[in-house]
Amino acid sequence: PDLELEHPDALAMFRAAVRRNPDGDALRYFDGRITYRELDELSDALAVGLLDAGFAAGDRVALYLQNVPQFVIGLLSAWKAGGIAVAVNPMNRGRELELLLTDSGARVLVCLQSLYRDVAAEVVGRTAVHTVITTSELEHQARGDKRAFGAGAGRVEAPGILDLAALVERFRGQVPPPVELAPDDVAFLTYTSGTTGPPKGAMNTHRNVVFNSQTYRHLCELGPDDVVLGVAPLFHITGLIGHIGIAMLLGAPLVLFHRFEPSLAVEVVREARPTFTIGSITVFIALMNAPNAERAALESLTKIWSGGAPIPPSTVTAFEDVFGHYIHNAYGLTETTSPSHGVPAHARAPVDEASGALSVGVPVYNTVVRIVGDDGQDVPPGEIGEIVTSGPQVVPGYWNKPEETERAIPGGALHTGDVGYMDADGWFYIVDRKKDQINAGGFKVWPREVEDVLYEHEAVREAAVVGVPDPYRGETVKAFVSLRPGRSADEAELIAFCKERMAAYKYPRQVEFLDEIPKTVTGKLLRRELRAREQPG
Ligand code: ATP
Repeated sequence: PDLELEHPDALAMFRAAVRRNPDGDALRYFDGRITYRELDELSDALAVGLLDAGFAAGDRVALYLQNVPQFVIGLLSAWKAGGIAVAVNPMNRGRELELLLTDSGARVLVCLQSLYRDVAAEVVGRTAVHTVITTSELEHQARGDKRAFGAGAGRVEAPGILDLAALVERFRGQVPPPVELAPDDVAFLTYTSGTTGPPKGAMNTHRNVVFNSQTYRHLCELGPDDVVLGVAPLFHITGLIGHIGIAMLLGAPLVLFHRFEPSLAVEVVREARPTFTIGSITVFIALMNAPNAERAALESLTKIWSGGAPIPPSTVTAFEDVFGHYIHNAYGLTETTSPSHGVPAHARAPVDEASGALSVGVPVYNTVVRIVGDDGQDVPPGEIGEIVTSGPQVVPGYWNKPEETERAIPGGALHTGDVGYMDADGWFYIVDRKKDQINAGGFKVWPREVEDVLYEHEAVREAAVVGVPDPYRGETVKAFVSLRPGRSADEAELIAFCKERMAAYKYPRQVEFLDEIPKTVTGKLLRRELRAREQPG
């Protein structure tokens, strides 16, 4: 059966929630609450403010914010003003921010005051940004301030800099003129994190956004009584769809806290009692290791999905031991606007006996997935090839990059760069990213498989495996490992542990211990960084 698009655009999806549930909470931020009606009014006022500042249909608004209510207000106001939002990682520093602002041609920048002072102030003059709207840090105020959205102390007073709260106050009660949005209009640009090269802005359309919000509702069996917890960054596609999109589609509350910190997250769950979340597996590993982790704390959070990065199967078991909840796998890319595959609610992902890998699930509605060999032909079940995905969640392309678009998404079929296979029952497995394969003297090793074995060792908190130069084999397998608090293990022990459990060409020849494995904010291992430190010179 097909899943029909229920709303032509994401703004219509939000407006339907406002009509159905005006007095219900849309956002909860510590002690602050914003109802659907209030969120509608706040974003109306900000949209009028944008138009007043010279913003025109099709213009881009960059959101350079942590997980604060203003992110959602800014996103809605961009659409209400007929524009496109640009989701910027708040961890980005000057050069990175400048690159995204220049690439997207953003005219307006909405950012936290501190990020303006520390980073953006240096950069905006070299970009097309004509209006900067700053907003106060809410994390401290919100705890005592019922308004969750307040005129803050510490405003940036400078010409051309507007204060978000003041702007909203000025235009409160005004409604922007109606806009015409079409399903194929771009809703936002999401930049790939650059683990595979310079960042590219994926153009997620309104169709992409509405469709994959529906995908979450269907896959995870969610309804209006659910409460969504935001643990993924809002600027990332997981946060945009798995938090904001799904909450709006349901007309349900989204619980936010500014920045993921494990013991804070445990505290927030205990108080706000969310029922659903999706995040990267590092979030769930961190929750297990939080000092205040206990079974009762996460009682309400029964519907859990993990996406965006591989899940070591042993982690699912360990999490279930601690909290009693099963972590469902979901797979997708920025370019698939979050999931293309997932493990349905009530199902458990099979583990491949031969490889030990955990399935990422089955393709979601209306999605066609091929597995293609080096010759471009489909391979039979059980054999590995590149995952090629087509469906209503696949972006039409990258912003201003026709060549990259043609290379990655020819004819609308996304060549994911991920290598995987499908078993006889239709479950999919991701082996690894194509480019991460290690060639040890002609033997091909997938780092993931080695990492999964390392995770079985009780002292290992996180593991990352890369190929490093080797005079004899060309490349050899090296593991970087961080240990769990209070546990110990040495190099020889971990090598022996792997050697016992895998083919001779696969086990790591070297193990180096790090306090932290370098990762992106969305929990992806930065294998590139690890490889770089191993290059001679
Ligand atoms: P870049 O393309 O620059 O690396 P990125 O890492 O931010 O950017 P995303 O779109 O966030 O790109 O990540 C998508 C990738 O994450 C997939 O191609 C896949 O390699 C990996 N991934 C996502 N979900 C899973 C999963 N459940 N299991 C294994 N890998 C996953």
